[in-house]
Amino acid sequence: MACSAVALASCVATPSGPPPGTTNSSSTIPSGDTATRHLSVEDVNNLTIPLGDGTSATLHNGVAKVSYGGASADTYHVAGFFAEGDLNADGRPDAAFVLADDSAGSGNFFHVVVALGTESGLKALPPVLLGDRVPVEKLAMTGSAATATFLDRGDETPMTSVDKRTVVTLAASGGTLRETSRKSEPLSSWPLPAPNPVADKVTATSSPTTVSRTLDYGQSQSFQFPASAGQQLRVTLDAPLGLFLSVRDLTGRQLTSSTDRITTYSGTVPATGTVVIDVASLNGSSSSFKLTFSLSDAKASTPAPKPAVVTTPPAPAKASGKVMYLTFDDGPNPPYTSQILKVLDKYNAKATFFVLGQQVQSYPSLVSAEVAAGHTLGNHTWDHQSLAGMSQAQFNKEVLETKRLLGSRGTSCLRPPYGARDSFTSRYAAQAGYSLQFWDIDTRDWSRPGVNKIVNTVVSQARPGAVVLMHDGGGNRTQSVAALDQILTKLTAQGWRFPALC
Ligand code: ZN
Repeated sequence: MACSAVALASCVATPSGPPPGTTNSSSTIPSGDTATRHLSVEDVNNLTIPLGDGTSATLHNGVAKVSYGGASADTYHVAGFFAEGDLNADGRPDAAFVLADDSAGSGNFFHVVVALGTESGLKALPPVLLGDRVPVEKLAMTGSAATATFLDRGDETPMTSVDKRTVVTLAASGGTLRETSRKSEPLSSWPLPAPNPVADKVTATSSPTTVSRTLDYGQSQSFQFPASAGQQLRVTLDAPLGLFLSVRDLTGRQLTSSTDRITTYSGTVPATGTVVIDVASLNGSSSSFKLTFSLSDAKASTPAPKPAVVTTPPAPAKASGKVMYLTFDDGPNPPYTSQILKVLDKYNAKATFFVLGQQVQSYPSLVSAEVAAGHTLGNHTWDHQSLAGMSQAQFNKEVLETKRLLGSRGTSCLRPPYGARDSFTSRYAAQAGYSLQFWDIDTRDWSRPGVNKIVNTVVSQARPGAVVLMHDGGGNRTQSVAALDQILTKLTAQGWRFPALC
């Protein structure tokens, strides 16, 4: 079936339970009418997925935890999008689904898993990575190809945004799943779902009003309220990736461009009448959002109270030339922090340590050693919880206690665990005296991919100003220490310098 822009919702494979009366405890695809029978989490219960490096994840009720030692653990969960077909043309039905990995280190990775039908049940092949924080739209199997469609971003686009749609084609042969093509088109060329003809009538006042709703893929919800010419309208959408705002008046005149992919709007109402805000979803999952808006009367004789002005601390100024920045997260952590300090010292390199409050409390002397050696400290929260979706009170609990422990030794850099944030995070951070600090080169050293892999990741991506993410905490960091020594040997020989980032 072809997917048209207006009928997208019907094209999305959504997970659904087995029909009444069927239960299936073994990992085999039930025979019968495959046109009406949809696979579900039940069908892949106890399925073991090989992850490379000898590790594997076995699903229980759709979830698998894989520990890398210490606090480092990945949580895999079945994100749905089940598809079935006969990918390897052996006459036995095969299954495919999307597996999400809430990684211990640095992201939220989406993979396609293909499980081939065998005599003894489904056998999973090593998954293929689609990307980090990419909303999946659909997964299909036709003939000898599986295709995954998802929203993605260019290299220069922030992690919190998406600007292209990518289709990856996969084939199973010789016991592996291979990517045979990856094609992208700009998202701006793709129309948003049509506005919902039935609008929610809401009231906008000078104090921000918040409404919460849930949208499925391809759906749109409209909100309308009366407004007067000259009033200032402010709108913020707090939502997962792939949900966007547009603003228009009731005659249909757009106040935002129809190809914008925006989540905030601020502007002057051009004419007295009704303003409509549309929220549209191109996110493959059911997505809850919060929409916050206010109208302030610019012409009132007494000006409406202004929201408190929050100044984000300036991001650290970067040096020019052959300069890169090393950062180490999740520590301090004996014995690796001291080993890293020794290696840094050997090359006269400085680093920024993004520390966890609970680790600082346990190992205060390691923090003193970091500072004494000329390195700097950033805040990585108290206990490594994702800041996305937190209330400001929760956020402050996670961040301010660590800030207090660091005192004057702390800098104004905050690195959110997993790089996860929502549209409130940078504002909460600014109010707590922080600017957010992410990274450019992700070594994924926490997954212990081997010393060479860590070294190659950094050396091959070396470029001026790049921020390198490594870990001294969260488990056994022997590989990180060994890799750092080699990285510094190679890069200092090439003339690179390593000042502290923050
Ligand atoms: Zn971390």
